[in-house]
Amino acid sequence: MTTQPIFLIGARGCGKTTVGQKLAETCKFAFIDTDLILQQRAQMSIADIVAKEGWPAFRALETKTLQSVAEPQSVIATGGGIILAPVNREFLRAQGIVIYLKAPVAVLAGRLEAFPEESQRPTLTGKPISEEVREVLAQRDALYRETAHFTVDAACEPDDVVAQILALISAARASSAPLNSATAG
Ligand code: ADP
Ligand code: MG
Repeated sequence: MTTQPIFLIGARGCGKTTVGQKLAETCKFAFIDTDLILQQRAQMSIADIVAKEGWPAFRALETKTLQSVAEPQSVIATGGGIILAPVNREFLRAQGIVIYLKAPVAVLAGRLEAFPEESQRPTLTGKPISEEVREVLAQRDALYRETAHFTVDAACEPDDVVAQILALISAARASSAPLNSATAG
């Protein structure tokens, strides 16, 4: 196993928190959620930060938070927009193993509709959820892929997503190839 931090990236609802907690448990790593840490430090919800200070201020806090939590032996769930800033993309790739949890629009929208209380982010466009998910993913999918060392299928059960991640990491270790980019399955 690796001791580098494992960063999980992907759209809202792809399972970064759910899968991250299970992965951390399995590896006996710490679990860190950048959105949670940021809100605890600011003593405000993300919605309030954005409403009061705007998206750029939130993005700046997000970068600061990311850089402060990247410890060895940790699984780090990131916010969906973390990949928007080039400085974050470079940091993620340089400091750890980056996993993209990729799921189709319908799966993401279905999860967000079923569990609206868990998607504490303010809506980005004010449009119906499936349309918003489609638009946001269209803008970000290439950035997720470019930032990730590995992409996994996040539409399956959380335990299966964890298994894909562990298999990819141990295969990379075994071949001792430099981390590049790969896809499960
Ligand atoms: P993220 O942190 O990426 O926004 P979450 O882990 O909060 O996503 O998951 C969003 C919702 O989808 C939660 O209600 C969670 O229980 C559910 N969920 C997450 N991953 C899966 C999965 N692999 N299969 C089914 N439901 C999932
Ligand atoms: Mg989350």
